[in-house]
Amino acid sequence: MKYLIIGNGVAGIQAAETLREIDTTSTIIMVSKENTIPYSRPLISYIVSGELENREIFIRPEDYYEKLKIETYLGKTVRNMDVENRKVFLESGESIGWDRLLIATGADPRVMKVDGSDLGNIFFLRNLDDAVNIVKSCDSGARKAIVLGGGLVGFKAAYGLLKRGIDVSILITSPYPLSQVADTRSGQLIRKTLEDYGLAVEVGKSVKAFEGRDGKVCGALLNDGQRVDCDLVVVGKGVDPAISFLKDSGVNINRGILVDENLRSSVPDIYAAGDVAEAPDIVWRDNRVNAIWPVAAEQGRVAAYNMLGIERRYQGSLGRNVIRIFDLDFMAGGIINPPDEDRYEVLSVYNEKEKKYKKLVFEEDRLVGMVLVNCVEQGGVLLNLIAQRRNLSSRKKELLDREDYYSMLRSYR
Ligand SMILES: Cc1cc2nc3c(=O)[nH]c(=O)nc-3n(C[C@H](O)[C@H](O)[C@H](O)COP(=O)(O)OP(=O)(O)OC[C@H]3O[C@@H](n4cnc5c(N)ncnc54)[C@H](O)[C@@H]3O)c2cc1C
Repeated sequence: MKYLIIGNGVAGIQAAETLREIDTTSTIIMVSKENTIPYSRPLISYIVSGELENREIFIRPEDYYEKLKIETYLGKTVRNMDVENRKVFLESGESIGWDRLLIATGADPRVMKVDGSDLGNIFFLRNLDDAVNIVKSCDSGARKAIVLGGGLVGFKAAYGLLKRGIDVSILITSPYPLSQVADTRSGQLIRKTLEDYGLAVEVGKSVKAFEGRDGKVCGALLNDGQRVDCDLVVVGKGVDPAISFLKDSGVNINRGILVDENLRSSVPDIYAAGDVAEAPDIVWRDNRVNAIWPVAAEQGRVAAYNMLGIERRYQGSLGRNVIRIFDLDFMAGGIINPPDEDRYEVLSVYNEKEKKYKKLVFEEDRLVGMVLVNCVEQGGVLLNLIAQRRNLSSRKKELLDREDYYSMLRSYR
């Protein structure tokens, strides 16, 4: 058996380890455009902040591939594939065949199509190399940064730069930061906290063009006609599943690669996992891309079992985020902004003095979403309740009023 895995992110490595644990003899081949041992992508912003060194974010040892007997094509990009003849073609001109293929290529940052976006000192923050290059530009004298986009990556980039002593503004089009994972109230609390700690958050703003000097960015023209000076830009306008090499391949794609509950794509013996996969979602009960680390890790493992012929049903993903924003603890999961007021019931409580906020979203008697600010300690219990789709009938109000869910649920049969 010849297993081919494209991508050495967490989905790819969890898959490789599961395959090797059970099948000690078959060939496992891993291709990745990044030439590195596996590392923790969520930690790259700590390279920017200077809180971690490169070596501290590696999550596997130097001899990782060798020990697991994984053949590697590192620093090599898959350009396209021939599904019928089971072959991928690399930009280097090489080709590799497979019996079972896992696509775990993650996501690509959304590019900005405005004048000047190819100038120097304009970065994404997706890979370790991006983080290293941002640090280099700071070391070369960059002092005034703008971060475009108030999502998780934009926020983490801004935090990292601020920690490094750089003057940072975040420009966002939405009315508050983290708008994909927060609701209005929590978003406003997050915005206030960021501003209190010295991060300028400019809402309703976007860039129309960049200006350059000697090939490097020196300013940005905004949608409202304003011009701002900057010598460093991080673009965090979201990501899309990395699927460009699948064009005309016959693999069914919506936003990401559509997979069933065994993480199989529409083509036999081709599986997908992680940020590239559009897989069943627990609360929405359709297929979604939930681009977070624990989801990618689990999908990598489940896909591997199915590739081995050991049937494993994927229970579905649950979008969730836990973030510490200076002195504010934020946790959210499931359906945060219910689209249909008749179908969902929302209970919330806000204590302005303590900056505490809790919002619970129910669909009939089941908890399907939550937002917690500064009361996250037992939030994991709520996430479990969402994942288990447990019937909470008469306990809804109690769930809102209490924070010690463990003891409350112990007495609840
Ligand atoms: C700055 C930042 C902060 C984050 N913070 C958090 C967080 O706090 N919590 C959280 O849960 N998640 C966080 N995430 C998201 C998390 O990192 C991802 O969900 C996770 O890494 C996805 O893993 P993956 O294996 O699916 O993809 P990736 O980790 O993106 O790996 C994909 C791999 O495929 C390779 N590849 C892509 N295209 C090709 C190709 N054509 N040919 C060959 N190789 C290819 C890439 O080189 C890469 O090695 C963060 C992400 C970023 C960027």
